[in-house]
Amino acid sequence: MYLGRFAPSPTGPLHAGSLVAALASWLDARAAGGRWLVRIEDVDSGRCRAGAAERILAQLADCQLLPDAPPLYQSRRGARYQQMLDVLRARGLAYPCGCTRRDIDAALAAQGLAHERHHDRPYPGTCRAGLHGKPARAWRFHLEKYLSNWPQTQAGKAPAAPFSVEDKTLRWQDRRLGPQSQDVAREVGDFVLRRADGLWAYQLAVVVDDADQGITDVVRGEDLADNTPRQMLLQAALGLPTPRHLHTPLVRASDGEKLSKQHGAPALDTRAPLPPLAAAARVLALPEAPRESAVAQALAFWVAAWRDTYNRAP
Ligand code: GLU
Repeated sequence: MYLGRFAPSPTGPLHAGSLVAALASWLDARAAGGRWLVRIEDVDSGRCRAGAAERILAQLADCQLLPDAPPLYQSRRGARYQQMLDVLRARGLAYPCGCTRRDIDAALAAQGLAHERHHDRPYPGTCRAGLHGKPARAWRFHLEKYLSNWPQTQAGKAPAAPFSVEDKTLRWQDRRLGPQSQDVAREVGDFVLRRADGLWAYQLAVVVDDADQGITDVVRGEDLADNTPRQMLLQAALGLPTPRHLHTPLVRASDGEKLSKQHGAPALDTRAPLPPLAAAARVLALPEAPRESAVAQALAFWVAAWRDTYNRAP
C-alpha cells in the first residue's frame, strides 16, 4: 500500500515553493492509488510561528489537497523520539557530546582546518571516546562506528537495503535525479540526533515519523536530497524500512536562491487556487491543464500527466 506525505515546517504560510512539494507528493500518492498524509514538522519551536500550521492546512484545503488522516504534530512526539534515541544508545550508535562551537572550531584548527566554517565540516569526533568531564550537550549518531562495521551491521537484514555503502560512500537512486552518492563520513560525519538546546534534530524526527506513519514514498524538494543518506543510515541502524525517494525541482527567487520563507517568499493567495496550482504544475514539468478546468478537473488531469512524467503506475 502506497503511503505518501507532505511534511511542512510551520515557520510561515505555504508559499510557491512549498506548494510544489505539497502538490508533487499529493499527485504521486493519487497516481499510485495510495494514501496521502500531512505531518506538521514543528520540532524547532523557535522557528515556528503561531497559527502557521492551521494556515497551511487551510491553504491546502483551498487547493483541494486533502489528507486522508488528521495531521501528525512532531511537537507531541518527544517520548517516541527519546525511545528511538535509547535504541541507538543501547546499540552503541549514539553518544553524548559536550562540545561547544568553540570546542569544535578549536579541534578543527588543530587538524589544520582553521579557516573552514565549522558547519561545512564534519564533527571532528572529539567526544566519541567520552566527555572528558564536560557536561553532555547534544547527542550524536556514531556514523564512524556504524560505517566501519558495514556490512556486518546489515547481516541478517532482509530484503537488501535499496542503497549501498562502499568506502563510506552511500549510493542510492532518486526517482527523478537518478543515481546519487555521498561520502557521508567526509561530508557529514557524526550528525546530531538531539540538539544542545534539547530540541530533537530533524534527521531523527523525520526517520521515526516516516516509519511510524508507514510512509513508502518520500516526495519533497531537491534541497533536502543531501539529507537522504543520513536518513537511510538511521533507518538501517534502527531496523526500519527505507522509503523510495523523489526530489522535486525548486522554485527559485529572481537571484537564483531557493524560494523560502527566510528568503521573503510571499504567502500564497489560495482563494483562487488554480493560478498557484498551475504555476506549481509547471515547475514539475507537467502540461497545462485544459482551459476552463475546475480545480478538481485540473488535479485529475495532472494525476494522469504525473503517471507519464514520473513513471508511476497505479
Ligand atoms: N519539514 C521539512 C521542510 O519543510 C521537510 C521534511 C521532509 O520532507 O523530509 O523543509
